[in-house]
Amino acid sequence: SSETWELDPEELELVKEVGSGQFGLVWQGQWQDMKVAVKMVREGAMSEEEFKEEAQVMKKVSHPKLVQLLGVCTRRSPMYLVFEYMEGGCLVEYLRSHRGALSQDMLLGMCLDVSEAMAYLESSNFIHRDLAARNCLVSKDLSVKVSDFGMTRFVLDDQYTSSQGTKFPIKWSAPEVIKFSRFSSKSDVWSFGILMWEVYTEGRLPYENRTNQEVLEDLSAGMRLLKPRLAPESLYQLMQWCWKEKPGDRPSFAVLLHELASMMEV
Ligand code: ADP
Repeated sequence: SSETWELDPEELELVKEVGSGQFGLVWQGQWQDMKVAVKMVREGAMSEEEFKEEAQVMKKVSHPKLVQLLGVCTRRSPMYLVFEYMEGGCLVEYLRSHRGALSQDMLLGMCLDVSEAMAYLESSNFIHRDLAARNCLVSKDLSVKVSDFGMTRFVLDDQYTSSQGTKFPIKWSAPEVIKFSRFSSKSDVWSFGILMWEVYTEGRLPYENRTNQEVLEDLSAGMRLLKPRLAPESLYQLMQWCWKEKPGDRPSFAVLLHELASMMEV
């Protein structure tokens, strides 16, 4: 029930601020014997009633490669969302700060971890909607977990949610999302192709010197991101498969997981 989901804020000890995001500040905290991350939802940043209903669904979405939502404190303002704590922080920052020090096994392992989480979401008919390296986190044992799944649905900032908005993640979005807001597991697959490119460039910004408008035009003309120097040809072929114009021509996450796992063995 929603009651068991509600954490007593008295049991939560706030330790230090570790970041800030779309919804507000993120703190490291302690809850029972567990290190946790506490997202403090800034007033007006989230459609809270809708989130509270969806939280019932989100607590059932659980997988070792997804950042687990542990509970919520909805009776206070700002509202708290409490997640498992990820020592390594955000994946894109991790990649940037470890440039030149990441082995081929590590890079492939990161993609494999994300594909496991996404194959699970796909089989649960749950669409992420904002998959990118910035929305993945690194654990103490260096596995990568997917965070913020489905959360853009509760963001109240138009600049972020409208494809015309200045904060909309055009560079991670499939063409049908940009043009018609048509989200699906196949649009998540497109974003996953961009995420693999981020991993193999050690955290570079895709289409670095291009504006959103230019990216749209280039994509329509059939242009795609180039092969990262560190990426094997077989991996670049997977990326290009993810970036097929028609959603139906892209692989499923089940297939991507299988392909990545088979590359890990050789
Ligand atoms: P929002 O969902 O509000 O946009 P983010 O998920 O982008 O917030 O989090 C902002 C920052 O807070 C991240 O870049 C990361 O450094 C830190 N952070 C978020 N969640 C966790 C977590 N579970 N464990 C550790 N650090 C986290």
